[in-house]
Amino acid sequence: MYANKRVLIKLSGEFLAGKKGFGMDDDAINSIAKVLKDVHEYGVEIGIVVGGGNFWRGRNDNDMDRTVSDNIGMLGTVMNALRVQAALESLGLETRVQTAIQMNEVAEPFIVRRAIRHLEKGRVVIFAAGTGHPYFSTDTTAALRALEIKADCILLGKTGTDAIYDKDPNKHDDAKKFENLTYQEILSKNLGIMDASATSLCQDNNMPLVVFGIDDPSNLLKVVKGEKIGTYVGGNNGR
Ligand code: UDP
Repeated sequence: MYANKRVLIKLSGEFLAGKKGFGMDDDAINSIAKVLKDVHEYGVEIGIVVGGGNFWRGRNDNDMDRTVSDNIGMLGTVMNALRVQAALESLGLETRVQTAIQMNEVAEPFIVRRAIRHLEKGRVVIFAAGTGHPYFSTDTTAALRALEIKADCILLGKTGTDAIYDKDPNKHDDAKKFENLTYQEILSKNLGIMDASATSLCQDNNMPLVVFGIDDPSNLLKVVKGEKIGTYVGGNNGR
């Protein structure tokens, strides 16, 4: 069983783009901000890693040097972080954005001890610019930051699905939903829920993960309250 005192929530660019499919969608962002406020009021410390796929994915551009392309991707996540911060602050939450690439005029640099202090003071900390290094993803960033801030678990909200299945439930009627999984099974069954680096990092360090559907943002609060929705990935005990 995992505790829920401090969580690391991963918000993908896909979610932030909402129905628009690109860029930032006010409805999607405001709806998750409201739920994040509820989660905060429930008494949980919140770290957020934002993706950037709603603007740019480094690996998708074949003509450009990968490092340059990934740098563009990381900068996209900073825009998302600032937008999510604005939405949370409009609801009265205290927040900080910390970036893995220094841009002191825009946000604080990532300093883990400072991030933990913010969390202890009830501030929502949004981690931007990924790991600060090319060839990584924001899923790996989520795993890394969760470990660094000593989060109890990672909450990975997925669009277009409500859990992990053995095959795409949108294409196969007989797709089987997993309630519990191990990281080893994710890797051996090639379930592709997170990239291999993120999966291994969580596996090697026993970081629990809940994968749930975020198309209905209120699911986030349900997960935090311990409702058995989505798929729990972790040790052998399940939840
Ligand atoms: N990125 C990177 N290093 C990191 C995190 C992200 O280079 O540590 C770049 C990479 O190009 C990636 C892009 O930022 O494609 C956006 O992140 P991601 O694709 O993980 O966003 P999501 O799919 O969650 O929206």
